[in-house]
Amino acid sequence: MDNLVKISDHFWIFEENGVRSFLFEGDTKAMLIDTGFGTLPIREMAAELTDLPVFLVNTHTDRDHIGGNKDFKPVYMHPSEMDHYKNALPAGCHMEDVRPLWEGDIIDLGLWKFEVILTPGHTPGSIMLLEREKRMLISGDSIQDGNIYMFGAGRNIQAFQESLKKVIAIAEAVDTIWPSHGSYPLTADIIPGILQGAQDLLEGKLVAQEPPYPMPCKRYVCDVAGFLYQFDS
Ligand SMILES: [Zn+2]
Repeated sequence: MDNLVKISDHFWIFEENGVRSFLFEGDTKAMLIDTGFGTLPIREMAAELTDLPVFLVNTHTDRDHIGGNKDFKPVYMHPSEMDHYKNALPAGCHMEDVRPLWEGDIIDLGLWKFEVILTPGHTPGSIMLLEREKRMLISGDSIQDGNIYMFGAGRNIQAFQESLKKVIAIAEAVDTIWPSHGSYPLTADIIPGILQGAQDLLEGKLVAQEPPYPMPCKRYVCDVAGFLYQFDS
């Protein structure tokens, strides 16, 4: 797959080994969402695409989303994510460069206006970004048709379920969902299936499979997505 996909004149996707970053060009500045594993020269690629200054927003800070963060200052994220980031801070990154994005904040690029929606569960400060006029939702890892990591420190599947319910409540505002992994764009009708899958997982209705890589978890597959999860006992 090509590393660079042009979606429109002002919207591009960077594809890197199964993880996706997004670049939106506005009127006076451009917003990069996540920086992948860090094997793609995203800063240089973005500079080829836009002459505007580029600032960085992280949907969350798992290591497949922050690999190129060292090339950007400041770095915006929800404050609930900051400990998670601090615990996995990549070389060359500094907590002093982190700035808060709060629930309900509007990231106004002129052409694009993204509203911050706090959706904890996958990580404590995972966010989604809703563009109401263009009816788009940037969903991070929490809405996707690949494997959703739900094991290990900072993850909570009950919080994840509550976040999905919160997004279902605004789903009528969304035509397309742009996830960090799996196929895209998705539509909002996938969300109840993920929510049901999480519930079936907790109720023991999904079969435990081996994970795709050696990891301290099992893989559970529902109709629309997979979960990497480990029961406490
Ligand atoms: Zn991810």
